[in-house]
Amino acid sequence: MAESKKDYYEILGVSKDADDAALKKAYRALAKKYHPDTNPGDAAAAEKFKQASEAYSVLSDPDKRRQYDQFGSAAFDGTGGAGGFGGFDFNGSDMGDIFGDIFGDIFGGGRRSAQYNGPLKGANLRTSIRISFEEAIFGCEREIEINFKEECASCHGSGAKAGTSPVTCPKCNGKGKIMYTQQSFFGQIQNVQTCPDCGGTGKVIKEKCPDCYGTGYITRRKKIKVTVPAGIDNGQSVRLAGAGEPGSNGGERGDLLVEAVVSNHPIFKRQDTSIFSTVPISFAKAALGGTILIKTVDGDVEYEVKAGTQTDTKVRLKGKGVPTLRNRAVRGDHYVTLVVSVPERLTETQKEALKNFDDAMNGNADSDKHKKKGLFK
Ligand SMILES: [Zn+2]
Ligand SMILES: [Zn+2]
Repeated sequence: MAESKKDYYEILGVSKDADDAALKKAYRALAKKYHPDTNPGDAAAAEKFKQASEAYSVLSDPDKRRQYDQFGSAAFDGTGGAGGFGGFDFNGSDMGDIFGDIFGDIFGGGRRSAQYNGPLKGANLRTSIRISFEEAIFGCEREIEINFKEECASCHGSGAKAGTSPVTCPKCNGKGKIMYTQQSFFGQIQNVQTCPDCGGTGKVIKEKCPDCYGTGYITRRKKIKVTVPAGIDNGQSVRLAGAGEPGSNGGERGDLLVEAVVSNHPIFKRQDTSIFSTVPISFAKAALGGTILIKTVDGDVEYEVKAGTQTDTKVRLKGKGVPTLRNRAVRGDHYVTLVVSVPERLTETQKEALKNFDDAMNGNADSDKHKKKGLFK
């Protein structure tokens, strides 16, 4: 017991009432600075790292901290492990629990990697289909062809040639993982790695099944029907349960996600369940009012333009928009912008008519205006 009393708070550079976050922050900074990996061969740094780790391991544990506050560091001396840490064990798995998140931050984690051997669902696959604007609105059905991976019928998924079966992997003795011991600053660390020979399955195939080349799976082209629901939007996907990759260890198949790529429409624009379009109307129709035909996804509808309609007037056609995915009977609206179009080429008769119209407008306007201002007597 060469060391005298150590002040853990001083070592970490925190106050006596420091909370967990402050402790962690202080320790993280010190661990980073003095870690043996960043200071190879530096004994002073190694000692500082030891002290900081010891201080943190005590102060971050509420029970130990209480003991320490009462009895000082003497409470943790005397059990003297090989590393001289005393009081706490740096070799076991609890290291991961105490320091896991901190070292995870600093060294990228991966200290604990448990091998999961239960049923695993297969991976999801993705594909896409192009559909028209109208197909997206009213839904459609498509047949697509996909690569469908399934268990090899000859070997029933084992990958071994008929009449043979996979044998226990000699490298890992069927465990699927191998342990190796690493010398480190902390002493010996037991590491577990997936067996490279059998890939973690614990079995190796001596004679491969000729039909699936030992993979246990056969891929074939398969046609499947995709039902695209009314109201699907560009980028949304239809999920086909079970059409993905096969699972492993009895896990269910993954899904196939079919993304809808919706073509643009020459007239209609869409946003969620609303449709937008622009409809030109003649100057005369705008001025006098009258019936026009407006194109919608349900076909042409008649609309009564009010007399004196200005350009950029917005019209809402209720229920002529996109069906909602949940209920195709519930539909958004179609918003139409009426644009008064100015004729570009006119015949002589038309020009004459317009001039007369203009004179009539000016005549009335002028005489009204001038009368009011009293310029005409
Ligand atoms: Zn096979
Ligand atoms: Zn193995």
